Amino acid sequence: MVIMERLSVNDSIKIIDNLIINYPDLRNLLELQKQILIAQRRIRESPNKGTNINWEESHFIISNLQESIRKSNKPLINFLNPSIFNFDELLNTFNQVIEVLSKIIVKKDDLLKNLSNELIKDIEALITAYLKNDEDFFINYSKKLSISPTLIIFIINILIQPCFEEIANRIDSSILENWWQAPCPICGRKPIVAKLKNRKRYLICSLCNVEYLADLFLCVNCGNIDPATFKFLTPENHSEFRVDFCEKCKHYIKVIDEEKLKKPIPKGFEDILTIDLDIMAEKAGLIRD
Ligand SMILES: [Zn+2]
Ligand SMILES: [Zn+2]
Repeated sequence: MVIMERLSVNDSIKIIDNLIINYPDLRNLLELQKQILIAQRRIRESPNKGTNINWEESHFIISNLQESIRKSNKPLINFLNPSIFNFDELLNTFNQVIEVLSKIIVKKDDLLKNLSNELIKDIEALITAYLKNDEDFFINYSKKLSISPTLIIFIINILIQPCFEEIANRIDSSILENWWQAPCPICGRKPIVAKLKNRKRYLICSLCNVEYLADLFLCVNCGNIDPATFKFLTPENHSEFRVDFCEKCKHYIKVIDEEKLKKPIPKGFEDILTIDLDIMAEKAGLIRD
């Protein structure tokens, strides 16, 4: 098992500060990213990553999860028991995330503070529903609190991201090379960015920070595999970028051609740094999930 060298929170912050200088238009998004990272610092820097498991000493848990993925061809999230999470640790981060969001995104301070009491009470139920991909739960829950389900999911993503990244980093690379499906093999989310390397297409999960091999002609939204129904758009003077879209469902994926890339894109920033492609896609009437 190859454990990749990972960046410390401070190294990641340095990368973001540099990106803010090089991409001043993206300052707000990058600044949010930085504040989220700071809120996650405590769980990122602990060996348990917000769970009750010391991942360095628990190789058998990873082996069992790998076996489950191989046997079932289903993403790992299906086999995670909510009880692995340390809810006290998650709540600590949760409070910091609420602070960040009330400053940056949601200007209505009181609204979020009131919500946070509810969310704290329900954290275990929320994580359980998240792992089960229980959409009805989130629709009903967000109606009850008059908050968008997207915001609730966004917050939960921040809490569980260090754990998912840790698992993704420890998992056998053969799983990523032999997956061949559209959703992320760890969290099951649909990707929005892909990389071309040696004429192969790797889908990128921006939650787990993982790259996995997939067919060149596979719509990540509807599963279409008919090559004749895939088209693409390229921005002027930037042949290193492309928007591939499916004529059947009009969904798209942003593609980065590594060989043509003029300046490297740091891992984990592929989606933010290609935001111009989303604007181009939207103008063309294409859909992002
Ligand atoms: Zn993922
Ligand atoms: Zn499609």
